[in-house]
Amino acid sequence: MRAPSDPDLELRGKLIRGLGSLREMLPGSFVERKRACGRPNCHCADGKNLHSQFQISVLVDGKPKALNIPAELAVKVREKIEMRRHFDSAAATICRLNLKRFLKEKETR
Ligand SMILES: [Zn+2]
Repeated sequence: MRAPSDPDLELRGKLIRGLGSLREMLPGSFVERKRACGRPNCHCADGKNLHSQFQISVLVDGKPKALNIPAELAVKVREKIEMRRHFDSAAATICRLNLKRFLKEKETR
């Protein structure tokens, strides 16, 4: 494989190829809430050892929703929401490179 000499194209290619690994991304933000369950004999009754409640805070059809996530999925969901950030960041960089290339090309017309 011939390496492209343009570092911008090299970076763009690298970012594009990396997008496939982000296909499981999820929207919204990850929220961890602490709460008491209300059972008087539970360890949370002291108000300190509270339970963790995990949620995705997200817009669904334009309306803000807080979706509960089972604790065993929390790590996975957090990663998938993080993927969105990487995706947005990659898209912003790709657009910046393309704009730069476009403006350069425009000048040489
Ligand atoms: Zn409890």
